Amino acid sequence: MKVAVLGGGPSGAFAAERLATAGVRTVLIDEKLAWEKPCGGGLTYKAYHEYPFLIDNHTPKRIVRETVLAAPKAGSVTLHLRDPLVIYSRYDLNNMLLCRADKAGAQIEKTRITEMARTGTGWKLRTKTGAIDADFCVVATGARNPLRSAGTTLTQQDTMSALGYFVPGNRDHIDIQFLENLEGYIWVFPRSGHLSVGICGKGVPASELRKQLEHHMDQYSIPPEGSTFYSHLLPCLETQAWKHNRVAGDGWMAVGDAAGLVDPITGEGLYYAVRSADLAARTLLNEATDKTEQAYRWLLHRDFAADLELGSRLAQRVFHGHYMFGAVPARMIQFTRRSPTFRAVMQDLFSGTQNYIGLKGRLLRNLNGSIFEIMGSFGFGRLVPRKDSVA
Ligand SMILES: Cc1cc2nc3c(=O)[nH]c(=O)nc-3n(C[C@H](O)[C@H](O)[C@H](O)COP(=O)(O)OP(=O)(O)OC[C@H]3O[C@@H](n4cnc5c(N)ncnc54)[C@H](O)[C@@H]3O)c2cc1C
Repeated sequence: MKVAVLGGGPSGAFAAERLATAGVRTVLIDEKLAWEKPCGGGLTYKAYHEYPFLIDNHTPKRIVRETVLAAPKAGSVTLHLRDPLVIYSRYDLNNMLLCRADKAGAQIEKTRITEMARTGTGWKLRTKTGAIDADFCVVATGARNPLRSAGTTLTQQDTMSALGYFVPGNRDHIDIQFLENLEGYIWVFPRSGHLSVGICGKGVPASELRKQLEHHMDQYSIPPEGSTFYSHLLPCLETQAWKHNRVAGDGWMAVGDAAGLVDPITGEGLYYAVRSADLAARTLLNEATDKTEQAYRWLLHRDFAADLELGSRLAQRVFHGHYMFGAVPARMIQFTRRSPTFRAVMQDLFSGTQNYIGLKGRLLRNLNGSIFEIMGSFGFGRLVPRKDSVA
């Protein structure tokens, strides 16, 4: 069996590594190979805990232990991260993953795929430089997947714009700024040698997002001199789209952004790129039969896609909802500042260990504790229960 992996970003490179390691004849094709893909480059604890090589390596990276969250009418709060965020430049991360695939024995080709055509039970891939035959395709061509016949179909409602600047500079912490009426946020991520300053937002034209970001940079004295502009699409599937998401078909499976596998609230995609590549490789190694399609769909659903689907339902409420007469992002900042119980929830959300499916129950269980702590922080000391009785 010969597998062609179309695209060599994190999802493609990891799928190729997994397949080649298992002895499958694997060819990976990417038009750019390692490149500085527009991205924050942040990896959560969930990612490097599951795949330790994402932190245990000699590739340049920043390990950041502090994040400052801010929202209109709520000021800011500093969260000392129990599990730090690891931040890479995407050139470095992609390069590391491609080197691992190469070392595992995958054949790496630098060319653009222009067409994938079914030939009986196999595929003929036309590229800018010739043609490649394969028995099976793993589609990893990202959010701008040009291969219309495979991968998720992203409508305008299923994406958000994400853009920003790579700015020369250094700092020790991450900034996350929520904005009024925006389903998205601004981030400032420190990376090796520069900052990634960006904004993502759903349903807002990119030009408007850029204006808001530049206003923020101006306000916070982040100088645009010497910086490089970037922009890209971020899959952000609506609930309906999750239900009919085209993640696999006859002779192919899609992974990472090409399958729309991005958290609709946080925009986290790197973990899901690597994880889906792992699940696709496992499916192919165990189930190289006509059941591959269903097996992969089921594995994805059980592993994380059901949770992301729930995230798509919560997104509106997180960014536009109100709680106790205040906007949810503002309440999040205030609760984080005043309630250790709520702060623990935020820690777990940041590290990726709190999923959306368990979130509602946990918030409800801890609500009384949080409210007592908040009142206590305003000086209603007698109402605060003893620490050991807080849930
Ligand atoms: C601005 C921005 C910030 C982000 N920040 C974060 C973050 O901090 N943390 C996080 O977890 N996620 C983040 N994401 C999401 C993350 O970047 C993606 O989820 C991740 O890159 C998906 O990996 P992938 O391998 O599926 O796709 P990609 O990384 O997009 O890789 C696709 C590859 O396919 C190749 N390709 C495409 N078409 C062809 C073709 N026809 N022929 C040959 N090759 C082709 C491309 O060259 C590319 O290398 C961000 C996204 C954006 C846009």
